[in-house]
Amino acid sequence: MIVIGLTGNIGSGKSTVARQLKNLGAKIIDADQVARQVVTPGSPGLQEIVNVFGPGVLDSAGKLDRKKMGSLVFANPQARERLNKITHPKIKQEIEREIDLFNKGNKTSPKNRVLVIDAPLLIEVGLEHNVDEIWVVKVNQEEQIERLAKRDGMTSKEALRRIAAQLPQEDKIKHAARVIDNSGSKDETIKQVDRHWEQMMKEHLSETAGI
Ligand code: ADP
Repeated sequence: MIVIGLTGNIGSGKSTVARQLKNLGAKIIDADQVARQVVTPGSPGLQEIVNVFGPGVLDSAGKLDRKKMGSLVFANPQARERLNKITHPKIKQEIEREIDLFNKGNKTSPKNRVLVIDAPLLIEVGLEHNVDEIWVVKVNQEEQIERLAKRDGMTSKEALRRIAAQLPQEDKIKHAARVIDNSGSKDETIKQVDRHWEQMMKEHLSETAGI
């Protein structure tokens, strides 16, 4: 069993890589989905957010207004820190629980041999210690801004601000066992993923065989 931490900055191509890893047989945990889960209505996470930021961050249905919250914290590093202090430990805990479940489930009936944690904030949250290896998706900034404009309608100023709020790409790469350069076409990226996968399996097999 191998646990991969897949990370990279916003719009780098993590989802694109995760899709290919799924095609290759991996099970994927999407940290963005977990991040939404820990602030659903009625959760302690959402209650703490309201206590700190006030009910103005809720929409009319009582859900967290992610757009409002996003513009608030991306404009204000201190607010971002306060929000992260609430959500990050909860995201980490939930993902750790899912890794445990995967490991236990695999012992009784092995299905997927590889689990992928698709998490932009893998290193920032401290999850790098819970994975066997880190894969980083990198992209040149020009492409990244263009793709974010296309996908999310972001202006380049907005995109730059969001990129600046994350650990720089070069720092993430320092933790990486494998790096995928997604500056080219999707086909080229998929080929890199396939190559890394094959290499990882080879290394893992020789490790388990004690070679
Ligand atoms: P992330 O999950 O890291 O935020 P995505 O995988 O969603 O990034 O990629 C960001 C956007 O760029 C998406 O709209 C995706 O379809 C597009 N994209 C990703 N890789 C490429 C590529 N190699 N060429 C062109 N567009 C791409």
